[in-house]
Amino acid sequence: MPYAYLKTYGCQMNEYDSEILAGLLKENHYELTASPEEADLILLNTCYVREKVRHKIYSKLGELKKLKEKNPNLILGVCGCLAQKEPQETLHQAPYLDFILGTFSFGELPQVLEKVRENHGKIIRVEEKETFPEGLPKRRQRRFTAYVPVIRGCNNFCSYCNVPYVRGRERSRLPHDILKEIEELSRQGYKEITLLGQNVNSYGKDLSDHQDFADLLTQVNRVKGIRRIRFTTSHPKDLSNKLIDRMAHLDKVCEHLHLPLQSGSNRILSRMRRGYTREEYQNRVKDLREAVPGIALTTDIIVGFPGESEVDFQETLDAVKRIGFDGAFTFYYSRLPGTKAAELEDQVPEEIKGERLRRLIDLQQKITLGKNSGLVGGEFEVLVEGVSEKSCQQLQGRTRSNKIVVFESPKELIGDFVWVRILEAGCWALKGKILSC
Ligand code: SAH
Ligand code: SF4
Repeated sequence: MPYAYLKTYGCQMNEYDSEILAGLLKENHYELTASPEEADLILLNTCYVREKVRHKIYSKLGELKKLKEKNPNLILGVCGCLAQKEPQETLHQAPYLDFILGTFSFGELPQVLEKVRENHGKIIRVEEKETFPEGLPKRRQRRFTAYVPVIRGCNNFCSYCNVPYVRGRERSRLPHDILKEIEELSRQGYKEITLLGQNVNSYGKDLSDHQDFADLLTQVNRVKGIRRIRFTTSHPKDLSNKLIDRMAHLDKVCEHLHLPLQSGSNRILSRMRRGYTREEYQNRVKDLREAVPGIALTTDIIVGFPGESEVDFQETLDAVKRIGFDGAFTFYYSRLPGTKAAELEDQVPEEIKGERLRRLIDLQQKITLGKNSGLVGGEFEVLVEGVSEKSCQQLQGRTRSNKIVVFESPKELIGDFVWVRILEAGCWALKGKILSC
């Protein structure tokens, strides 16, 4: 049986797409391998959200050239966001590639492999399509928690972001197809699902019956066997009262929201074209916390956006302190060709970006530790996901509020819900003791 090596870069949507790619490979009689050296086919599912990851992918392609030289029969392909954004540049960097598949075309992998084998030369497929890919096989990476995409693409065009260019305009998936996938997951023993999209709460605007995301959540909440529902990412400007109300009342919807703030300065938010002010963001959070007491809130923040002064950055620090996030993904601004912000002249020097990022991380770590310390002594329901990433002697799972908890327990409990008392708090995870199964 031939071997395929599949490497994924980037977000959860890419991870999900890779589950489809793995499914297609399996259907085409490939066995997955963790070693590129023994592979007959190497496929990189790429991301292009920041320059750093682009460099990483090109340097990986440089390494793979040696394998292609050793084994001319090796099939080498690239798919995903980088492939969609710059197929010609990708081919220029790695002329030994056999095929390039954009974000709209990954479902065509079997036909493309067929053509490569028949020696049709290099194949490039990067056309935009309106449809949502359905009916493709999947090979899931996890056994109890699963991703389910509900909307692809984004219409927001934040001035720094590549997503609308690499993933196209918003396309909502039909509720029937979403529910079918979730019901199937439930039959297979999955307990928790995460609804995915670049902007999930924009769901339904392009559907004829105008069902919105809150309506979708209500339907998903009815699927028997599924015990927890999460979703990501939500845009602050689309966080409606109706959605907050459903989050408060639907029993399976977990008490956690990832709501990217990006900056605490209104001047910078406007230049980012985010469509809300800091005050509007804070008001949404206030409503949310009133409706869902104890909800955990996480965010994304970019430092060093063009024109960000020390005063603007202080406003971000101040917002982070006042809002009190449970956690934050922090990035320094990356200038991406083709985006509006890349054309702005007042780019912030790299060393200032780096220094601001360190200050922001220091602050957030203190806040996260403070929040997590407040949970010590508390008892929480945890879905046991598997062996701990940090110590193979222990198991790890998550609370409904998405906190990682590490504890000692027999491996038979993987996939079960247990109650755990929190004994100790860290930034990355909590340590706990099992109370009951
Ligand atoms: N749709 C989501 C997130 C998409 S990308 C949203 O609207 O929030 C994930 C995160 O990457 C973004 O939230 C942003 O914080 C970060 N990001 C995107 N483009 C970036 C860039 N050019 N430089 C630095 N960070 C960026
Ligand atoms: Fe990018 Fe903005 Fe769309 Fe998020 S909402 S994917 S940051 S353009």
